[in-house]
Amino acid sequence: MLFEELGLMPRLLRAVADQGYSIPTPIQAQAIPAILDGRDVMGGAQTGTGKTAAFALPVLQILNRAGNRSRRPRCLVMAPTRELAAQVGDFMATYGKNLTLRSTVVFGGVGINPQIDKLRRGVDILVATPGRLLDHAGQGTVDLSGIEILILDEADRMLDMGFIHDIKRVLKLLPNKRQNLLFSATYSDEIKRLADKLLNNPTMIEVARRNTAAEKVDQVVHPVGLKAKRVLLAQLIKDGDWERALVFTRTKHGANRLATYLEKSGIVAAAIHGNKSQTARTRALSEFKAGKVRILVATDIAARGLDIDKLPHVVNFDLPNVAEDYVHRIGRTGRAGRSGMAVSLVSADEQKLLRPIERLLGRQIPVEIIDGFEQNQADKDEETFVDFRRSGRGSKSGGFSRSRSGGAGRGSSDKSRSQGSAHRSSQTSR
Ligand code: AMP
Repeated sequence: MLFEELGLMPRLLRAVADQGYSIPTPIQAQAIPAILDGRDVMGGAQTGTGKTAAFALPVLQILNRAGNRSRRPRCLVMAPTRELAAQVGDFMATYGKNLTLRSTVVFGGVGINPQIDKLRRGVDILVATPGRLLDHAGQGTVDLSGIEILILDEADRMLDMGFIHDIKRVLKLLPNKRQNLLFSATYSDEIKRLADKLLNNPTMIEVARRNTAAEKVDQVVHPVGLKAKRVLLAQLIKDGDWERALVFTRTKHGANRLATYLEKSGIVAAAIHGNKSQTARTRALSEFKAGKVRILVATDIAARGLDIDKLPHVVNFDLPNVAEDYVHRIGRTGRAGRSGMAVSLVSADEQKLLRPIERLLGRQIPVEIIDGFEQNQADKDEETFVDFRRSGRGSKSGGFSRSRSGGAGRGSSDKSRSQGSAHRSSQTSR
C-alpha cells in the first residue's frame, strides 16, 4: 500500500514525501480513507504507530476541501499533556505546510495572552489540553460552536489524569453534528463508555497490540543496589558511549537529583517533570533533540507522548509501579524499524515489580550483572534502604535470586557487552 492510494491530495502527499515517509503505517492505511469518508473512528493505537498523521492528514484535507474562512476553529484536538499537544500542533503545521489552514496550540503553564491573540485572528485547527481550553471558553476567548471535527488523542491518558469532567464540559460547547475521532492505547470500560457516548457508528481500527512496540526493543535488567544505581548508570553511559538516552525516575525529586549527579560526573543532563516551568521543559526537550543534552531524566507523566526521533536508549532508573507504564516507557525507543535498547536498573526491593511487567510482555527480560555491581553490593544497600525509609519494606536478604541461579553468578566474565564488562546470568531456571 502506498500513500498515493489513500485518496490524499497531492499537496499533502508532497508534505508526506518531504518527511521521508513512503509507506503508510497500518493505522494510517485504515484510518485515512475512513476519516476522508466522514466516518467516526475509534482508533486503538499508541504513540509510535503513526496515529498523529493518521488523523492529521485526512482532517487537513477535509478542512481544506470545505474552504470556509470563519474565525472560529473547525477542528478541535484534545490531548492530555502539553508536550503531546505541542507535538500534534507541530505535525499539523508540518503536514499542512502546502495548505493555507491556520492551526494553533493552547495549553496551560504559559501566558494566555499570546494564545488569545492567535484565537482572535482566527484558526481552523485548535489543539488544546482540556484545562486551558476551558479557561478560554470560560472567558469567551474561544468559540467552539463551529467545530466540525473533534479528536480526542490518548483518550485513556486523559481519563487516567482525571480529565473526564473537563471533556464532558467541552462536549457541551460543541455542535451536535460533527465527526468524532477517538484514539486510545487501551480499551477500559471507561473508554468504552466514552466511545459509546461520543461516536456514531464508528469504524473500529486496532493496530499494534500494546506490547508489540516492546517486542522490537532489546531489553535487559541489571540487578544493582539502590545507591549504586547512579554510579552504574554513569558508567554505562560513558563506557557504552551512549549518544543519548531518556531515563525514567519515579519521582520529580529523584529526576532532579539524578540529573545533578550526572552533570557532576561530566555528562550533560536535564530533568523534565511537572514542577518545571513549561519554558524549562520545552527548552530541555529541544536541547535534547538537538543533541546538546545527552541524557534527559523524566517522570512518566512528563514524558508521556514525547516524540523523539532516534532514541537508542531508554533507562528505567526506577521500575514503574504499573506494568503498562513500562511498555509506554520503552516504546519511546526502537521506533520506525530502528533498533532500541531498554535498560532497567533493578534494586532488590523492585524485583517484585518485574513479574507483572514480564506477564504483560509475555516473556522474561534477560538479566545481566555488571562487574562491580553484583548482589553483595545490593545487599549492603538494601540495609541502608531499610534504615533510610524507616519501614519494614524490602527484605534484608535482598538478593537477586534469578541472577544467581544456575551457577552462572558472579565471577564468570565470559560475556562482555559494548557498554562495559558484564556477564549474563543463567536464564534456565527462571
Ligand atoms: P505517532 O504515533 O503519531 O506519535 O508517530 C510516531 C513517529 O512515526 C513520528 O516520529 C512520525 O514522524 C513517524 N511516522 C509517522 N508516519 C510514518 C510513516 N508512514 N513512515 C515512517 N514514519 C512515520
